[in-house]
Amino acid sequence: MLGSKTNFADANSPLDEAEFVILGVPFDATSSFRSGSKFAPNRIREASYNLETYISEYKVDLLDVKIHDAGNMEEYLVIKELWEDIEHVISGLSKNKMQFPIAIGGEHSITPPVVKALKPKAAIVIDAHMDYRSEYLGLKGNHACATRRICDTVGPEHVVVIGVRSFTKEEEEDAIESGLKYFTAEHVREYGVGPTIQEAHRHLYEETNDGAVETYLSLDIDGIDPAFAPGTGTPEPYGLTHLEAKKIIASFTKYLVGFDVVEVCPPYDNGNTSMLAAKIIRDVIASVWMDSLFVD
Ligand code: MN
Ligand code: MN
Repeated sequence: MLGSKTNFADANSPLDEAEFVILGVPFDATSSFRSGSKFAPNRIREASYNLETYISEYKVDLLDVKIHDAGNMEEYLVIKELWEDIEHVISGLSKNKMQFPIAIGGEHSITPPVVKALKPKAAIVIDAHMDYRSEYLGLKGNHACATRRICDTVGPEHVVVIGVRSFTKEEEEDAIESGLKYFTAEHVREYGVGPTIQEAHRHLYEETNDGAVETYLSLDIDGIDPAFAPGTGTPEPYGLTHLEAKKIIASFTKYLVGFDVVEVCPPYDNGNTSMLAAKIIRDVIASVWMDSLFVD
């Protein structure tokens, strides 16, 4: 583990006291188009300092929340080794006293070991891409396979992808056949974000599970339209607005056991995409903290 020069803002608690643990994973070795997401953890940390500690929407001051910044994983070239080490780090977090992990990528291939360690009963993925190939360029760990790998742990019928608008015919057929539920960005626009959220909740908590269950949320920043989040490796037009994404995320925070933001790519960012990622992380912390049992 490497320290980072700067902690995420207000992440001043030691690990053993922390309710939230931030982990940077600067890995972008499988990126297919524009690499550079390995610079995102530190850039998002820097951006976090420009936001107020008080989050009025949730009436939470982050100075009251115990957050630990664990720094960055070392840079790996072999994904198998990275996965083993991420799983080890996340598994090491306290289970008695809930420690909520927030992983900052890096590319989307960093998510599967976090999910594997947490073993949630449901998962939400916000992404422009289906990421449902069984392998890509000979690699099961490629970022184009992230949702497929999440499904390996959670089961496709317990996973919902929202904002998707880029996939192969084969991925589409596989998704339908395996029971992976997905809502395109077009669907969200056509039927509205509220009804889409309701459908997603119904699918995860009524149709495939007996009530609300522990849920993981993975935010591939390219799920949000490039107009709002241009600093990403594989931008795809016609996406969700930042406010639609915010609403979707907020609807799940009371069920979350972990969260990640991936695919922010600083070389293509004027700063706004890192800022959006920092803002979303802070909102998730505030909202999860408000909803959690460990509030005194
Ligand atoms: Mn992805
Ligand atoms: Mn994507």
